[in-house]
Amino acid sequence: MARQLTCPQCRKDTVLRACPQSPREHVASWIWISPFDCLECHYRFLACRIGLVESKHAIERREHLRIPVRLFLSFSGGKVRGEGIVMDLSMGGCIIKSDAQVHADDIFYLEIAISDQDAPIEVAAMVRSISSRGIAFKFLRKAQDNKQLLAFIQSNAGATSTVLSKAVASPVAH
Ligand SMILES: [Zn+2]
Repeated sequence: MARQLTCPQCRKDTVLRACPQSPREHVASWIWISPFDCLECHYRFLACRIGLVESKHAIERREHLRIPVRLFLSFSGGKVRGEGIVMDLSMGGCIIKSDAQVHADDIFYLEIAISDQDAPIEVAAMVRSISSRGIAFKFLRKAQDNKQLLAFIQSNAGATSTVLSKAVASPVAH
């Protein structure tokens, strides 16, 4: 019987499995007990992971879990405005393809179109690097608490097909 964890402190179900960090947590992980983080109140606790609803909690190392996507985005910051395609998305940041001239450490406000029905995901992000792969953004601290982003990542984690927003299906105007 699958079960779902709730936070012992705030009782919300916004709980994600985390990587063991302390020696105590490493030892616990040998007996199927994992640390969990509550996104609501940031409470960290240990719980048995046997029988949990995987899709709900299994985002281990969620900052490193990258989901391949093709989502249209627009961004702005200072005098620069740009548009592009998000190629890969995680709770920690994203990689985009764009012709916009940006520089490392620039801060932008991103709007990522996830579907026709839903409002875009809005996050503040800093340019971490620019390479042939694209522009790598690191989301600023508050994005980690972005419930819409979390819900999107959770619902697409483990999906084999690439997420494609309708906005991308039509040619991007320059
Ligand atoms: Zn909590």
